[in-house]
Order: sequence, then C-alpha cells, then structure tokens
Amino acid sequence: MTSTTIKSKLPSVGTTIFTVMSSLAAKHSAINLGQGFPDFPMHEELISLVYQAMKNGHNQYVHMNGLPALRERLAEKVQALYNNNISAEKEITITPGGTYALYTALTTILQPGDEVILFEPAYDSYIPNIEINGGVAVTIPLEFPGYTINWDTVRKKINIKTKAIIINTPHNPTGSVLSENDIEQLRSIVSNTGIFIISDEVYEHLIFDDKPHLSMLRYPDLYERSFVCFSFGKVYHCTGWKMGYCIAPEPLMKEFRKVHQFNCFTCFSPVQFALETFIQEKNNYLQLGKFLQQKRDYFNNSMQQTKFTPLPSHGSYFQLYSYEKISNEPEAAFAIRLTEEYGVATIPVAAFYKEGVNNNVLRFCFAKKESTLDAAVERLMKIS
Ligand code: PMP
Ligand code: GLN
Repeated sequence: MTSTTIKSKLPSVGTTIFTVMSSLAAKHSAINLGQGFPDFPMHEELISLVYQAMKNGHNQYVHMNGLPALRERLAEKVQALYNNNISAEKEITITPGGTYALYTALTTILQPGDEVILFEPAYDSYIPNIEINGGVAVTIPLEFPGYTINWDTVRKKINIKTKAIIINTPHNPTGSVLSENDIEQLRSIVSNTGIFIISDEVYEHLIFDDKPHLSMLRYPDLYERSFVCFSFGKVYHCTGWKMGYCIAPEPLMKEFRKVHQFNCFTCFSPVQFALETFIQEKNNYLQLGKFLQQKRDYFNNSMQQTKFTPLPSHGSYFQLYSYEKISNEPEAAFAIRLTEEYGVATIPVAAFYKEGVNNNVLRFCFAKKESTLDAAVERLMKIS
C-alpha cells in the first residue's frame, strides 16, 4: 500500500465564506444577500448572441489569448475610457474570470519568499493565491470606518522583498474607492522600484456618486508595472459565466501568457463571439453605475426602518452595515444567527481578514430585485 496523504499547500485554508454562507442560506431558505451575484435577469440579447454563435459553428478553440476581434473591441474601450492606446494583440488576454486573472498574475511574478502587500479587509482569494506561490502576504488594515489606505504604513512595510502591491477599486467588501491622492501616494511609493501592481478592477463600472474610476490604465507610469484584472460577469450580470480578462504591458503579458497557456489555454468561445458584438452597445456598461446606485439608495432607504447603521459605499455590489446597536456578538456568529433565526444571509467582514477582527459589521449585497430587498428588510425589521 502506498501512502496518498497530501501535504497541504494551503494548510490554514477552509471553504470560502461565500460558499459557506450560500449553503447556509439554502439550508434555511434564507434570502441570500451574502455572496455577490445579481438575482435579476441578464440581457436577453446577450443570451441570444451566445446561442447564435453556437449555431453559427463557433464551438472550437479560439486563439489562446482570446478572440482577436473581442480584444480589439476591448482595446477601443480602454482608449475611450482611460486614454490608453494598448495593443489588442500584445496586452490583453481573455481569462476564465477575474479571479483567474489575479491568480495568473501572481503566479507569473512570484518567487518563493517574495512579499506582497495587500489591504484588509481583502477579497478572499488574494492571500491563498500568494501563499500557494510561496509568497508572503503582508497585510495592512484599511482605516475604519472609511476604509482608507494609510500610506505611511505602506511605506514602513516596503522592503527589498516587496514584489507587488494589490489594489482593489471599487473595493470588495467595503465599497470604498481610490482617490487622486491615493494615486499620488502609490506613485511616490513605487516609482524607481521594481514593485508590481496587481489591480483588481472588476467593479470598474459599478461606481457611484459621480466618482471617476481611477484605473491603473489611466497613468502610464503606473500601468507600466501593472496587471489590471476585469470580469465580464460583473458588467453583464452573469457572474456564473466566469469570463474576464487581464491587461498588462507587453513584457509582463508575455510572461502571463506562458502561465496561462498551460493552465486554461483558451476560454469558452461562443461567449467571446457574443461579447464582441454586445460590447459595442456602450450604454450597457456606461449606465451600470447609475443602475446600481439606485439599488444602493433604495436598499439604504428601506434599511432605515431597521437598527442597522450604514457605512459609506461608493461602488461595487456591496454595502456594509454596523449592527452595534443590536449586539456585540462576533461577526461570524451574528451572521449565522441572522441566517438561521431571521432568514437573511450576509457575509461577516471578519472573513476578509487573516487574523480575526470584530468591528460589528456585515456585508450586504444589494444587486437584487427590489422585491428581494423589500423581503429582506421586512425580516431585518424584526430584530430589536
Ligand atoms: N475580485 C473581486 C474583488 C471580486 O469581488 C470578484 C467577484 N467574484 C472577483 C475578483 C472575481 O470575479 P470572477 O467571478 O470573474 O472571477
Ligand atoms: N465576488 C463575489 C463576492 O464577493 C463572490 C465570489 C465567490 O463566490 N468566490 O461575494
């Protein structure tokens, strides 16, 4: 008999909080405002375009970097929105989702022992993605309650081993967004260093209150060291499609593609044909911020009938609420009780920290039909 015990590469990792809370929601028939996904339908036309692409025979591998015509449309979009004339051929790769793009970027740059700076609360894939590559995650807390970056702390953490900084704007789970001052600070820290920027911009269009999205693509000196990651799932209300892309300057993208080609190699082709057409309807993404801002405002308005207190959210699918007027239970315990006893699932923000914290805040996803939000608020009003 041979022993088949695995020496875990991720010994401290359990099941992602999104799956845990969605399973709990299903078990208790709770309204799921936890995991971030819309419950309203996606565009019918986009579905038809995928069907048409399949009927038209677009069912074989497309180019490993993604359908060239789709990459052309994306390059045009980047030029129009961020005034950056990137090469569709050399600087864009279509990926199976934004998470894969982030993972591939980290795998591309990291050598064992390299440090990566990231800000907590942080999207839950970042740290495992760093650690599985032998890297060391250096976490810096965002300053509560505005969830802003303390750049002096960043300066103190930089050292010879610092390989990259992960930026996420608009931010999951807090909805905070980077300001021009943040960009200036970032610039002053990375200039004349070999530090890479991994920029998670999957919520690029989900930005509110007339704030501009400060993409790394806007700034040539920052872009030259960046892997910028996007998700079609967030833009077209189809998170289950798991389609996205990464943009990076040619020398960086060349290495990214070496990793990509022996992992996924190429992505689902009919969707790429469909998106190439659909992406030309600019209003679908240009109106997205307004559409989700209405949902945020609708939800916040209704939530005034409860004892939860909102924290500012300027983007993403998410709104944080403090429950300090209700309880000082730890966040995970409170989120579980809310699901089991009141039938509303949320995400404890503590799950986005490596070491536990307790600010008594939960993350609510408001990318839902008004009827779903109404039903959730009705339940949340019962908590005293
Ligand atoms: N980054 C952040 C911050 C996210 O919230 C998500 C959403 N899941 C992703 C990346 C990944 O997107 P995708 O589903 O396309 O992998
Ligand atoms: N991005 C989504 C969220 O933050 C879900 C991602 C996932 O389930 N892995 O809720």
